[in-house]
Amino acid sequence: MALLRLPRIPISLFSKQSPSRLSQNPKPNSLLTTTFRPLLTSFPKTTLSPAEAEPIPIGTPQVESHEDFETSLSLDMYKLFVPPETEVSEARILKGSNIVLSKYARDAQVGVSEFVKSSVRTQDCPSDGLPEFALVGRSNVGKSSLLNSLVRRKRLALISKKPGKTQCINHFRINDSWYLVDLPGYGYASAPQELRTDWAKFTKDYFLSRSTLVSVFLLVDASIPAKTIDLEYASWLAENQIPMTLIFTKCDKRKKKKNGGKRPEENVNDFQELVRGFFKSAPPWIMTSSVTNQGRDEILLHMAQLRNYWLKH
Ligand code: GDP
Repeated sequence: MALLRLPRIPISLFSKQSPSRLSQNPKPNSLLTTTFRPLLTSFPKTTLSPAEAEPIPIGTPQVESHEDFETSLSLDMYKLFVPPETEVSEARILKGSNIVLSKYARDAQVGVSEFVKSSVRTQDCPSDGLPEFALVGRSNVGKSSLLNSLVRRKRLALISKKPGKTQCINHFRINDSWYLVDLPGYGYASAPQELRTDWAKFTKDYFLSRSTLVSVFLLVDASIPAKTIDLEYASWLAENQIPMTLIFTKCDKRKKKKNGGKRPEENVNDFQELVRGFFKSAPPWIMTSSVTNQGRDEILLHMAQLRNYWLKH
């Protein structure tokens, strides 16, 4: 049976400070480079349960039915993100991503969400020790829309767009047990160059010293070709070993005008090729759309498995 041919990959445990860092696979070897076409899985929207995820068929040249992947996306083993304590031989992949499901993918639903505070400095951030995920990306990438989509509230993210808060670290508490953190957007087209590259000064300290930061979610617009500033951001996070997930936004945009004729999934592939050299192993990535809610449940499941592992270790 095809599944039995999957290699077993030793997964090293990661530390509390860097959940994704140590969970990534070694560089490809002969076993790991077998190209296969994962069956992209979906989950019931109401339960966010991974129970119905399908296993990955290996070596079967089937045509991917999901229209977003009709350009024959295939994943090599070494391009997968494998969470710790996960047997690749039982791998199930979150739809529209390279993320393998782990036993920690539970309690992913968002019930209560509330704005807690805006902080100018890392030391002013909440000190209750709850795990958190930081959303960051270029201005206009769709960060507010994604935040609203994740919490299913139309206007929650508007809070961080109020005067005085756009350059702050904004904490939103979810289910009284974890935080979504909205960081300032970077790369305003109209801002002077020195302000455009200033993002590191403001958020660097937060990234480097926030001990409860489980992962940064770097948002990248998949409807346009890669921007240098996004690549620089990814490079800096990788260089400083800050755990990160790439969230590709606006994947519903199919128009070919103005974007070099590329479809979102082609831009996604291109971006990954461009950042590949920054990482020892593939960072997790997910394709999303706040218009169709594509990727919403997958992000929440990914956050849940990172969070639950983090809490346990
Ligand atoms: P922010 O500046 O990063 O917070 O971006 P916003 O969430 O305010 O979105 C910027 C613009 O992109 C708005 O016009 C949104 O309607 C649009 N937008 C955001 N997300 C999506 C998406 O997933 N698909 C499409 N087609 N447009 C989006």
